[in-house]
Amino acid sequence: MELTSLTLDTAPLGTARTHVVVVGGGFGGVAAARRLARADVDVTLVDRHPYNTFKPLLYQVATAGLNAGDITWFLRAERAANPRFRFVLGSVTAVDTSARRVELDGGRRLDYDHLVLATGVVVEWYAVPGAARHALPLYGRAEALALRDRLFAGLETLSRGDPGREVRVVVVGGGATGVETVGALAEMRNRDLRVTYPELASSRVHLTLVERGPDLLAPFHPRMRAYAARALLRRGVDLRLGTTVAAVEADGVVLRRPHGATERLAADLVVWASGVRVPDAVRAWGLPLGDRGRIAVDAHCRVVGVERVYAIGDVAAHADAPLPQVATPALQQGRYVGRLIARTERQRATRPFRYRDKGTMAVIGRASAVAEIRYLPRLTGLPAWLAWLGLHVLMLLGRRNRVATTVNLAARYLAGSRNVIVGDGVPTEASLAPPRELTGG
Ligand SMILES: Cc1cc2nc3c(=O)[nH]c(=O)nc-3n(C[C@H](O)[C@H](O)[C@H](O)COP(=O)(O)OP(=O)(O)OC[C@H]3O[C@@H](n4cnc5c(N)ncnc54)[C@H](O)[C@@H]3O)c2cc1C
Repeated sequence: MELTSLTLDTAPLGTARTHVVVVGGGFGGVAAARRLARADVDVTLVDRHPYNTFKPLLYQVATAGLNAGDITWFLRAERAANPRFRFVLGSVTAVDTSARRVELDGGRRLDYDHLVLATGVVVEWYAVPGAARHALPLYGRAEALALRDRLFAGLETLSRGDPGREVRVVVVGGGATGVETVGALAEMRNRDLRVTYPELASSRVHLTLVERGPDLLAPFHPRMRAYAARALLRRGVDLRLGTTVAAVEADGVVLRRPHGATERLAADLVVWASGVRVPDAVRAWGLPLGDRGRIAVDAHCRVVGVERVYAIGDVAAHADAPLPQVATPALQQGRYVGRLIARTERQRATRPFRYRDKGTMAVIGRASAVAEIRYLPRLTGLPAWLAWLGLHVLMLLGRRNRVATTVNLAARYLAGSRNVIVGDGVPTEASLAPPRELTGG
C-alpha cells in the first residue's frame, strides 16, 4: 500500500506538457505555483509539510491568540484552482541539474523541465552553547504549539506551587519576531492573568528581551525603534540591549553585557527568535552560493550558470543586491519566476526582476505597532496596528483562514482574557522534546 502511494506520488505525469517542479510551499513557492496555473504546464509542488505556514503570525499561535489551523493552508487544496497542479509530500535531498532531476527522501525522484527552489531557511543558533538543546525556536507550526503548551504548563505549575516561586521567560532577538512575541506575552501577563490565574500575581512572571545590537527593530527608522522600546518598557519588559547570549542552560541563560561582564539570568523558558541560515542540505546540492551561503542567482532569479533552475525567497540572493529575508521579496519573486517560465515556454523575453519594497511593520500589542509603508508617513500606535491587521489578514492564503484569523484576533484584542486559545496545562511530549535541527518551517 505504502509502495503504491509512493510510486504514484512521483510517477511521470504522462502528458506532453512542460513539467515544472517547485520545491517549497512557502510564500515564494506557492506564489510561483499560482502564477504557473495561467500557463499550459504541469506543476508539481514538493514540501516536507502538507501545509503552507503564514510565519508572520506564528507568535500569535505561540501566545494563544490564534489556532495553528488559522495560519496554515492545505497545499493540496491548490489543485482546486489548477487541475494541472499536484502536490508531493517529501523532502528534496539532492538536485541533479545535468539529468534535470530532483531526489526525494525514500529514494523517490522527480524529473523536471524547469525547477524552482524556494526552500526558505532554518534557525541559526550561532554556535551558542546549549542554545539548540535548551531554547525553543519559533520557526514552524510544531514549535509554536510546543511553546504555547510549555507556557501554559508553566503557569499551571506556578499556580499550584510555592507562592514565592517566579516564572521567567527570556526572548532572544530584538527583531520583529522577538518584539512581537515578548509584546504578546507582556499583554497576556498584564491583562489576562489576573482574570484567568487569580492565584498568581502577575509580578511573579518576568519577561526579558535580549538583543545584541544597540536597538530593537534594526531595519526601522530610529524613531520607530525608540517607540518600540518605550512600548515594551511600559508593558514591564526587561530590555537588555547591546547584550549577547553567551550560553543557554537548562534553567537559565548566560549574558555578556555591553562592557564584557557576564551575568546569569534564571529562565524557565528561552525563546530563540534570532537569526536564520541556509539549510545544510541545500548547501550540499552543489549549486553556486553567494551572500551568507544563499543560492547565487542572476537578475532573472536564475541560478548562476545552471540552466532552467531558479531560486527565490529567503534561500536565494543576487550578488549585487541581496534582498531582505522577509515575505514580500519571496512573493514577488515567486510571481516573477512563474511568469518568466511561462514566457520562456513561449520563447518570449522577460525583463529582469525588480523588487518593489512595500514597507515593513511590527506589532507590540493592542493598538500598538510601528509601520513604514511606501508612500505613507511613518505610522505608530493604532493606525499602524490597523494597517498591520489588515495587511496580515489579506496576505493569508484561503478565505476560511482570513475569517478565522480576523475573528480570533478581534477576540484577543477586543475581548481579552475570556477568549484565550488555551494550551495544554501539562507538558506534552512535543513541548518537552529538545528542539530538532529545524528546516524551513
Ligand atoms: C517567526 C517568523 C516571523 C516572521 N515574521 C515576518 C513578518 O512579520 N513579515 C515578513 O515579511 N516576514 C516575516 N518572516 C519571514 C518570512 O516568513 C520569510 O521571509 C518567508 O517565509 C520566506 O519565504 P520562502 O518562500 O523563501 O520560504 P518559506 O516560507 O520559509 O517556505 C519554505 C518551504 O520550503 C519547505 N522546505 C524546506 N526545505 C525543503 C526540502 N528540502 N524539501 C521540501 N520542502 C522543503 C518548508 O517546509 C517550507 O514550507 C517571519 C519568519 C518567521 C520564522
